[in-house]
Amino acid sequence: MTTYLWNPPAVPSVAVQGTSDRLPVNRLFFVGRNYHAHAIEMGRPVDKAASKLFYFTKSPQTLVGSGATVAYPPETADFQYEMELVVAIGRPGFRVTAGDAHELIYGYACGLDMTRRDLQLAARDQGRPWDLGKDVEQSSVVSAIVPMPGRVLDRGALELRVNGKTRQQSDLSMLIWNVREVIADLSRFYHLEPGDLIYTGTPEGVGAVSAGDRIDGSIAGVGEIGLHVKAAD
Ligand code: MN
Repeated sequence: MTTYLWNPPAVPSVAVQGTSDRLPVNRLFFVGRNYHAHAIEMGRPVDKAASKLFYFTKSPQTLVGSGATVAYPPETADFQYEMELVVAIGRPGFRVTAGDAHELIYGYACGLDMTRRDLQLAARDQGRPWDLGKDVEQSSVVSAIVPMPGRVLDRGALELRVNGKTRQQSDLSMLIWNVREVIADLSRFYHLEPGDLIYTGTPEGVGAVSAGDRIDGSIAGVGEIGLHVKAAD
């Protein structure tokens, strides 16, 4: 039996709708610029024919469940929300075709890719990694996974409100690269494994939050997500 110097950290996990069993999380992948209007608001429009999907990752330790209260993070003055569809992978796959990509899907959730935007953009503009902007403690918010094995979601209204005011409103049909294309492309670079979560990108309307703000989001057919931001530690 393996013994450790101290108790190992808990396995990051997510609630699953309809069961008390939790989904053990392996990796967190995030798609960059996957809605045209968001790519434009970031000053980096996407021409699908001339560009490729790109990704960043966050530590699974950044996961927090829907309904959590998180402290305004350190070293930023521009903490922003990004509402996203999350795909939960339930079967292994490597170099899968878009046509077979549905076989890897376990289910879906609502996600918030919380971001230190000032640090992300400074890094981007200097050609540096995005980690300080993106791999933020408690920044990967996720609602309970809704099991839909093998099912591809290609439409569904997505919305985000801050203190009750609508800030993001779009539809999954507006994804530049759809769920099949994202899974197929990501599987060229990684052996996808059960427990990998893919945040598929955010639509336009991203913006800053302050301590005291309440964020609520929803995706039709998937569910709802909430987050409360409190004062900095
Ligand atoms: Mn994002």
